[in-house]
Amino acid sequence: MRITTLASSSSGNCALLSHGGTHILIDAGISLKRIRAALNRLGLSPGDISAVLVTHLHGDHISGLPRLAGNTNARIYATRETIDSVAVNMPAGTELEIIAPGMEFYVRDTAVQAFGTSHDAAGSVGFVVASETRKFALVTDLGIVTQEVLSAVRGADAAVIEANHDPVMLRDGIYPAAVKQRIASDRGHLSNAACGELARQLTESGARTLILAHLSPGNNTPELAIGEVGAALSRAGAVVGGDVRLSAAPLHEVGDTYEI
Ligand SMILES: [Zn+2]
Ligand SMILES: [Zn+2]
Repeated sequence: MRITTLASSSSGNCALLSHGGTHILIDAGISLKRIRAALNRLGLSPGDISAVLVTHLHGDHISGLPRLAGNTNARIYATRETIDSVAVNMPAGTELEIIAPGMEFYVRDTAVQAFGTSHDAAGSVGFVVASETRKFALVTDLGIVTQEVLSAVRGADAAVIEANHDPVMLRDGIYPAAVKQRIASDRGHLSNAACGELARQLTESGARTLILAHLSPGNNTPELAIGEVGAALSRAGAVVGGDVRLSAAPLHEVGDTYEI
């Protein structure tokens, strides 16, 4: 199983998961042009994508979806609330599949499970993707890590996890008070410290590859995020760079490909 983030920040999200000849995109929050260029760099084109899994209806996850849908035969999986928000913009004939938290389905021979997330978007979910021997989780856009999230991601070999903000940068930053409050709330985004706690639980259940994601350009830096999450892992006895690979997904560019 191979994981590559194509873009990951509050301004646009898209990740590629490949297993054998099955290629799955998670979210399409960047333009078709950027998705195509990123896929080309990896030797793929939109026509090679079997499925697009959509986490939720915010623009940084769906802005490129309608044009992508018109340029691929991929089936699009999203919750009813997300589909309702994009359906009007989708080209005729798009294959839309309604999913719900807790639901399991297959993309060819790859199992996918959606789980609910605590976020200020109706019907928001994260995903676990599993082959016979490997399990991957994508956990972004959530204000708190609930039991539902933890039980879904337990045992993942690798995960893309949200490290959205440093609370001090957020507090001192330029955002209006209401936006700051939203980001820091239980239905907002995970701080570096909350991400560290999630990372600890993941490594304790076997994760060896953690990719920090959805960093806020104004309220975080890769160095701060890696520093804080790395410290949490070290305190728990993990050897970062040894038994655990820890990295931050580039905000606006294609990241490294991680084989698990
Ligand atoms: Zn987002
Ligand atoms: Zn969101």
